[in-house]
Amino acid sequence: MEPLSALKKYFGYDAFRPGQEAVVNHLLQGRDVLAVMPTGAGKSICYQIPALCMDGITLVVSPLISLMKDQVESLIQVGVPAAYLNSSLTERQFSLALRNAKLGKYKLIYVAPERLETDSFLSFARQAPISMITVDEAHCISQWGPEFRPSYLSIAQFARSLPRRPVVGAFTATATPQVREDILRQLQLDEPFQLVSGFDRPNLFWSVQHPRSKREGLLDLVRQHRQDSGIVYCSTRKTVEEVCQFLQERNFSATRYHAGLEPEERQVNQEQFVYGNIRIMVATNAFGMGIDKPDVRFVVHYNMPKDMESYYQESGRAGRDGDKAHCLLLYSPADVRTNQYLIESSAEDDETDEAQRALRIQQDLLRLSRMRDYCHTQRCLRGHILRYFGESAPDYCGACENCLSSYESVDITIDTQKILSCIKRTGERFGSTLITDILRGQRTERILQQGFDTLSTFGLLSHLSEDAVQQRIRWLLGQGYLRQDKTYFSLALEPKAREVLFGGKQLTAAFKLAPVQQLAAPETPVSADLFQRLRALRQRLAARSGVPAYVIFSDQTLREMCRRLPKDEGDLLQISGVGEQKLRKYGRDFLAAIAEWSQED
Ligand code: ADP
Ligand code: ZN
Repeated sequence: MEPLSALKKYFGYDAFRPGQEAVVNHLLQGRDVLAVMPTGAGKSICYQIPALCMDGITLVVSPLISLMKDQVESLIQVGVPAAYLNSSLTERQFSLALRNAKLGKYKLIYVAPERLETDSFLSFARQAPISMITVDEAHCISQWGPEFRPSYLSIAQFARSLPRRPVVGAFTATATPQVREDILRQLQLDEPFQLVSGFDRPNLFWSVQHPRSKREGLLDLVRQHRQDSGIVYCSTRKTVEEVCQFLQERNFSATRYHAGLEPEERQVNQEQFVYGNIRIMVATNAFGMGIDKPDVRFVVHYNMPKDMESYYQESGRAGRDGDKAHCLLLYSPADVRTNQYLIESSAEDDETDEAQRALRIQQDLLRLSRMRDYCHTQRCLRGHILRYFGESAPDYCGACENCLSSYESVDITIDTQKILSCIKRTGERFGSTLITDILRGQRTERILQQGFDTLSTFGLLSHLSEDAVQQRIRWLLGQGYLRQDKTYFSLALEPKAREVLFGGKQLTAAFKLAPVQQLAAPETPVSADLFQRLRALRQRLAARSGVPAYVIFSDQTLREMCRRLPKDEGDLLQISGVGEQKLRKYGRDFLAAIAEWSQED
């Protein structure tokens, strides 16, 4: 079968995305591939299509049981015979699956890496016509990465031990050059075709807000997304509990996930969310590994995470299906202090000597300060992220909060004079938190101990919020009036500060006005009412078959149905995401629902 016909027949898509086609063609020509593609780019299609077009069997090595289950369910739904072999199967189920595999019943078999080394699997693999090995989440092979899986190291040996070495394709979303080198070497890829896609996720709308009340900020967003699934990340278990309860009390469909819950409850809550029965997941960063839910429409960070790496990974769980999604970070200065405290009080197991620990802490603090910069920048947020990960980026993306905000000009000359003299009076020894507290007239224990409440600058900016003072300090840092010590974060005056203190120089800063609203709401279907009905139908069908709702049809597919109002099976097949098998299984139900709705009007 031709790749494009297979794409249409099984998945109902009309065209490959950029990158996919090249990968598919190279694999079909028998050339190894290493593909680095961001989440949601469509990696699975890259090997599932060649698997369908080749004779024989494709083995997919995958690190997580939940991912395998998900993928296999989706394949079965579109009519591709597939199975998985992992430790979740009983002995009986396992030998049954292996027997079917020997009879050639599956095109794709998902295996945990540990399986490759077992005798029963090896003897099967040596006799079976295995034409391709796909390594999913290939970064797990690298010792440098946090997700290292030693059993990945045996994949190359396994491939060579087969009578004919199959073509090998490796896929990952994370790859620093070091990890990429590691994948190439450890998998012993043979002059592979390498595809590295950019990290940009154009469908994600980035925003940072400094709300007076985080709860209000959160409510604003979940109200904009009345019907959508989303994740709310909090930094502690306690906050998870509070936020989840807060949402439930306001009748939002919410559940929770953190390491303090019993494993059974975690499992149930996760499934409720993934299957679409509960809309909002409130969780610590323990949640998310191996969650492939494509229709997450928003990810809120209720607290600022410790670094950009964590932030990009967690917020990147939004919008895998390519539809618009909103990534919102609710910032408060307290988040910086919490993280600082956590970093400074943490000790890692393998840190024996003090120098090593000090070095690690210093690096963690540096990463934290870059994360804080993201929360305070007035420039394009997308650009900030891409540059952090070493990509070039334009100054204006037109699709993030900062690009779309309006700014107000504020004369900060007097405020600046007060800030500068406060820093000077305290000997240029302290960071922005303490300086802010002094200027705002806070009688904290530390301030009273040091006697700073008697300073002439004490309380001079008590009319400003903590955030407003910090904003001014950051602006002064950015403009070169202040500098900050890299280790101790203490603030000191730059020579240029004299111009404001003694030279009569006026300063005008541009500060962001009220947050942008609504911009990330997905395009509205022709009829919200019909869309809801189709979603409800999808939910019922999913419950009946015991699969997540998105496995039946994606939101995009439902929305296209609303726009085009198909009347018969021919019309329905034209819609992206409707393949032949799904047409047979669900076509009648969806056509009936659309017809019923049309008649009511
Ligand atoms: P990744 O594994 O790279 O994160 P997935 O394989 O889960 O991404 O694909 C993301 C989404 O994009 C899925 O809903 C998938 O069906 C959809 N998709 C993939 N390729 C295409 C295509 N060529 N046309 C339309 N949708 C596609
Ligand atoms: Zn932007």
